[in-house]
Amino acid sequence: MLPTCQVALPLPLPQLFDYALPDAVRADPGLVGRRVRVPFGNGEKVGVVAGLGGPADVALRAGELRRVSELLDDAPLLDGELLASLRWLARYLHAPLGEVLATALPAALRRGKPVPAADARPRRRRCAAPVEPVEQVAAPVPNPDQQRAIEAVLAAAGGFAPLLLDGVTGSGKTEVYLHAIADCLARGRQALVLVPEIGLTPQLLARFRARLGVEVHALHSGLPDGERARVWAAARGGVARVVVGTRSAVFTPLPEAGLLVVDEEHDGSYKQFDGIRYHARDFALVRGKALGVPVLLGSATPSLESLHNARQGRYAHLRLPHRAGAAKPAPVRVMDVRKLPLQAGLSPRLLDAVRAALDAGGQVLVFRNRRGYAPVLLCHDCGWSAHCRRCSTEEKPTAMTVHAGGRRLQCHHCGARQAVPPACPDCGGLALQPQGAGTERMEELLAERFPDVPVLRVDRGSTGKRDAMETLLAGLGDRPGILVGTQMLAKGHDLPNLTLVAVAGIDEGLFSADFRAGEKLAQLLVQVAGRAGRAERAGEVLLQTHHPEHPLLQVLVHGGYHAFAEAELAQREAAGFPPFAHLALLRAEGKHADPPMQFLHAAKALLRDGEVAVQGPLPAPMPRRAGYQRAQLLLSSSSRPALHAALDAALPAIRDSKEARKVRWSLDVDPVDLY
Ligand code: ADP
Ligand code: ZN
Ligand code: ZN
Repeated sequence: MLPTCQVALPLPLPQLFDYALPDAVRADPGLVGRRVRVPFGNGEKVGVVAGLGGPADVALRAGELRRVSELLDDAPLLDGELLASLRWLARYLHAPLGEVLATALPAALRRGKPVPAADARPRRRRCAAPVEPVEQVAAPVPNPDQQRAIEAVLAAAGGFAPLLLDGVTGSGKTEVYLHAIADCLARGRQALVLVPEIGLTPQLLARFRARLGVEVHALHSGLPDGERARVWAAARGGVARVVVGTRSAVFTPLPEAGLLVVDEEHDGSYKQFDGIRYHARDFALVRGKALGVPVLLGSATPSLESLHNARQGRYAHLRLPHRAGAAKPAPVRVMDVRKLPLQAGLSPRLLDAVRAALDAGGQVLVFRNRRGYAPVLLCHDCGWSAHCRRCSTEEKPTAMTVHAGGRRLQCHHCGARQAVPPACPDCGGLALQPQGAGTERMEELLAERFPDVPVLRVDRGSTGKRDAMETLLAGLGDRPGILVGTQMLAKGHDLPNLTLVAVAGIDEGLFSADFRAGEKLAQLLVQVAGRAGRAERAGEVLLQTHHPEHPLLQVLVHGGYHAFAEAELAQREAAGFPPFAHLALLRAEGKHADPPMQFLHAAKALLRDGEVAVQGPLPAPMPRRAGYQRAQLLLSSSSRPALHAALDAALPAIRDSKEARKVRWSLDVDPVDLY
């Protein structure tokens, strides 16, 4: 037999590709996990050797088998636990191994660049904080709740254990992480900490560096490719002892792993929404099990999945019910604004409360989950409103958001932009009016009403770049001032002088059809409210609404997040939604409406039912986006193995169906959003 290998290539095809090895290279199990450059089509690709041999000798003689052009690594780049876990992930997501491996590798390595030396120093440190020699900072003495949690984590060391650290905002969860990480380091092990996209601030890194007394390596999408590859290599070589990173940091090699931490485990940014649709928290649990180390999930608003697991006894449930130190929880007042005159969506009472907080020397956060100037542009003469041509259907129009003080229209779904028309395109009238208020319009009004203090807007429009928000907030310092913004303000930078949180305009979220909408809104409200009164100064939260009686608000305000979660879990159970059922969503889109539906009908016919319920095909809740017609098929089962068995049995035929050629389609296992 000729020496051949099977290569996983980053292609949307399920199979591995057979190649002959270069003449001088022997077929050795040590080749698995090394990168190779191979000819593919008219070009070349970089892939990873996933296996050896194969029924290929005949093909080579027939001249059909091509040869590996270059072996890129002297030793396996992916091996041991990481390679095994990634193989598991590919099977779980029903995704090509080559694409999963490519997703897991830093971009520079994916492209075939050499692996940096494990102890290489960064060339320049513009994006990461300097590696200062650390003076260690004194830790507060843990309170009894923290002490119990710390002891539980330390007692779990040495084996796999999922632990849910369920602690209100400001209860000192980060302190618990720091103690657990310090213990992990003392045992000579590595720690990986995952944080949400907006949680990874210089403030957090500085706190970790100061307290742990070792270099803390940051990994996030804003770093240059070379720096990411360097940190990856340093972790793989055991040089990096603490890595703090966002979603894709879950793929960090950890040869001496001792602890995995997932901060704000409920956060939506852990789920990848395109390509390989993995969930970093869930994959961290898989890795923790394979590595035999504890996985500490922390949140003030745990996901219903994690709460359910804790209630079932599958996760240890560690609770921190009180704020640490002197800080008191901020009381929440619901303000009924029906019939009240609103300016830019803000009521007179809310504006009075802002004035009072500023006069007392505090800072104010005005939260509105809509960026832009106004959500809708309406013709007051004839009722016409501005819709996105690429994202609307006859039955389901998608409004364009008004931006730039009323001069520009922008679609938040596809990015389309245009100038506001000078007159109504329908009736020619001049009565075009922005309706409602986004953060821009609120900023305008607040700046006018409170000219004596700085008014800063924080949303993706104003502070899109990483660190821009930090710079803005650092510039504000402790002075009285107003922050207006979206959920970007829900966490991250700590503002000790923030005494008033005013929530305006969350009512849209109360009536969403998505089964997770209630959970997401409750988490957002609790997180935003938790920004008030984090230090000595008492805080207050005002929640302005047209629906003060809404059950979600009532339960949340009077019972808190856990009462909400209980009620919501009961509803999910009754409706057969996660965590009581497991879902997979088959999505399809095309230029015309028919092919996606035809593809999904064909797929449905290929899926044998039984333990798996199949709903649809139906047009997606957003039936058109960026010019594409969208449809979906929802699979659900109370048994995970049954769901995966059905997918395993049907996917080869679905992939090969003639209908598949006419659409773009994808499979999302454990979808977070159903649109
Ligand atoms: P969380 O991560 O739960 O939001 P942090 O760990 O950031 O909470 O703690 C919130 C604040 O309380 C921080 O300023 C922290 O220094 C302080 N803190 C935490 N634990 C204690 C403690 N045991 N005694 C006094 N202050 C504490
Ligand atoms: Zn008109
Ligand atoms: Zn659009």
